[in-house]
Amino acid sequence: MDAHIETRIDILRQHLIDPEICIRCNTCEETCPIDAITHDGVNYVVNAQVCNGCMACVPPCPTGAIDNWRNVLRSEAYSVDDQFGWDALPAQNEEVNAPVEVPAQNDEAPVASDTVRGSTVAPWSAARPYVQLYTHKAPALATVVGNFRLTDAAASSDIRHIMLDFGALPFPVLEGQSIGILPPGTSTDGRAHHARQYSIASPRDGERPGYNNISLTVKRVQREDGKGVCSNYLCDLQKGDVVTVIGPFGNTFLMPNHPDSHLLMICTGTGSAPMRAMTEYRRRRRATGETGKLMLFFGARTRGELPYFGPLMSLPKDFIDTNLAFSRMPGEAKRYVQDVMRERANDVAQLLGDGNTHVYVCGLRGMEDGVMQALEFIARSHGLDWPTLWEQLRREGRLHLETY
Ligand SMILES: Cc1cc2nc3c(=O)[nH]c(=O)nc-3n(C[C@H](O)[C@H](O)[C@H](O)COP(=O)(O)OP(=O)(O)OC[C@H]3O[C@@H](n4cnc5c(N)ncnc54)[C@H](O)[C@@H]3O)c2cc1C
Repeated sequence: MDAHIETRIDILRQHLIDPEICIRCNTCEETCPIDAITHDGVNYVVNAQVCNGCMACVPPCPTGAIDNWRNVLRSEAYSVDDQFGWDALPAQNEEVNAPVEVPAQNDEAPVASDTVRGSTVAPWSAARPYVQLYTHKAPALATVVGNFRLTDAAASSDIRHIMLDFGALPFPVLEGQSIGILPPGTSTDGRAHHARQYSIASPRDGERPGYNNISLTVKRVQREDGKGVCSNYLCDLQKGDVVTVIGPFGNTFLMPNHPDSHLLMICTGTGSAPMRAMTEYRRRRRATGETGKLMLFFGARTRGELPYFGPLMSLPKDFIDTNLAFSRMPGEAKRYVQDVMRERANDVAQLLGDGNTHVYVCGLRGMEDGVMQALEFIARSHGLDWPTLWEQLRREGRLHLETY
């Protein structure tokens, strides 16, 4: 009896992140309510001294890399420094893996949903996504069939529409999903570059309907210390080049499929990619008589820096209610998406009060607070009980945030 108790105390079910699958998107670190997750330039790791197994980080992880566990002697738990040095997870030590009574909180504690702003479930009518068909060990190869600049030649940001064709290789995707790109080469420590994630900008039936291809919306990143590795690699690709792809990823940021569902889409810059995918899917199905509304708030610095400006403006007004916000137009006051949402508060509130409305927010991380505050302000000023509504939106898979 005593020996049994001792075993239970000494063995820890240690939470680990698989460095081979992790795409370093930072979602887990942001989600962890107790700062147990950290990273260096190479790996994301879990501090065994801090982690309480609450599982809040598990559902939002786009790859499942987060959901790894090893039974270890508590005194021999892998340190943060051990994990920083890993290329792959260590095998389970079978001597320690004798039947262990797992602490209840690891498996049974509910997800700490109040630490997650958006939904961790998909809309009820979303199609079932395929995820992780292609991995680091067995990636897919895609051929570049197009790469053109979306922003004005004079604009400071170079945002590109990049089309990838998978030929005969199955690569089924849904609007809202993303892929990982493995850029060639190694970083300064000699390790292969890690994958970067990009939202798919085309609908499920292909950038060109009926073709096995997808598109991405990629911004060329200039870091303080040089060029962003993957964005510059992608933006410089030529037609015919071959890229290495993993994924698809994402099983919650998905669109509803019931015909009377409304989409309230709020984005900035390359955050337009999933909105383009959803809008295009709905546009192609217009003839089927779907009655759901589409309302879009789209922000950029200037008109010339807004990706897809031309095609977006030519969409029928009775199909999509488009609202643009420009923050750096010469001679004009700065307007951000949250400002324009407030200007359209009556219509936003009407959508928020409708149980068929699904809200999507995508873009740079800095936009998230302002958008959430605007949603709260609009709800409260129109007599909606925001805490209740927010919880309902989250629980019903109707509030999706993807900022990076
Ligand atoms: C879920 C998800 C979806 C994403 N979708 C897209 C997408 O559709 N299109 C897209 O272009 N990017 C997208 N990204 C960002 C993308 O994964 C890369 O982080 C980005 O391209 C920079 O990678 P890099 O290798 O060029 O830069 P790195 O060599 O990795 O350097 C990163 C540096 O660039 C900065 N940085 C990262 N992104 C930006 C940015 N947009 N503007 C300015 N600085 C930035 C970082 O703060 C950091 O300092 C997404 C990220 C996530 C997590």
